[in-house]
Amino acid sequence: MKKYAVSEDNSFGREYPENKSPLRNDFQRDRDRILHSAAFRRLMYKTQVFVNHEGDMFRTRLTHSLEVSQISRGIARSLGLNEDLSETIALAHDLGHTPFGHAGQDILNRCMKSHGGFEHNYQSLRVVDKLEKRYCHFPGLNLTFESREGILKHCSKKNAILLGRVGQRFINKTYPSLEAQIVDIADAIAYNIHDLEDGYRSGILSISKLRQLDFFDESYTHLINKINANQVDEKVCIYETLRRMMFIFINDVTNNSLQLLRDSNIKSIDDVRNHNSTLIDLSEHVESYLSDCRNFLRTNLYEHSRVNEMTRNAQKVIVDLFNYYVDNFEALPNDYKIREKKYRSVADFLSGMTDRFANEIHKSLN
Ligand code: MG
Repeated sequence: MKKYAVSEDNSFGREYPENKSPLRNDFQRDRDRILHSAAFRRLMYKTQVFVNHEGDMFRTRLTHSLEVSQISRGIARSLGLNEDLSETIALAHDLGHTPFGHAGQDILNRCMKSHGGFEHNYQSLRVVDKLEKRYCHFPGLNLTFESREGILKHCSKKNAILLGRVGQRFINKTYPSLEAQIVDIADAIAYNIHDLEDGYRSGILSISKLRQLDFFDESYTHLINKINANQVDEKVCIYETLRRMMFIFINDVTNNSLQLLRDSNIKSIDDVRNHNSTLIDLSEHVESYLSDCRNFLRTNLYEHSRVNEMTRNAQKVIVDLFNYYVDNFEALPNDYKIREKKYRSVADFLSGMTDRFANEIHKSLN
């Protein structure tokens, strides 16, 4: 590994000191703790874009997290960084997401407006620091500082102040490890590509619609110039095109970041944290492809009437459940009940729910 990679030697360690494992390094151990957590299993039934019951072939938060982890590991390996740490952060990065995707999180944030708000990255950290209860000697999963640092991708200043060292960078405006920066980009690459695919599979994005996205059209044209498109299934042509787009993103971020690390004369993890910008980045040209994908998806998929309708139902479920548990605090499971923090307890419980569990409870209330 490179000198500027996170390692057991330069790690700030765990909040509650533990003996070393004879079999696994600290970051592999973190990864395994996440894999065995209840919050991780629940990602299986949480919406990415399409709610779970829309169909079995769409991404869920779980499969999304696995794809982010695969991309992250590959980039970390190519750059000589800590692959285990990137994998860990990727698997945990969405643990704090509410049911029903972004709609769920926006509405819960609104419900919590006068009670400290709801931030999903902060919630992911709360899950691994506090809400998972599996060990006698400490609360949460007692992950290494570097895993926690990576999980807390964004944080408001008011929450950062409460978090000690892991919140410091939002106050000092410094940067996290390269392994964490990889996961940020891998997350964006993964969802932009897989949402195009899911959009196509759902019938919302046709091939002619997709070809209005220049980057898609260039990659598609490149493909059909090489093959006899009439003899190949349309679906396969789309998947090959998306695969090529993903390759361009991953290849570019790898080469461009190597160049940035060299040009900035980065020698240590301190250099990484104190540098004046991120060091894992796409080149300007390819970055514009990614933002084109983002804008295309917003207009043509995320704001499509069929997706909107799914999210409208979600909002009603979250608001009704929030009000119900605030009025009937006794109905909250004991694990979540902190009397002096009534609203936070309700938000913790609601955000941990899967789509179908939230729907079932909602039905039982009516
Ligand atoms: Mg994500």
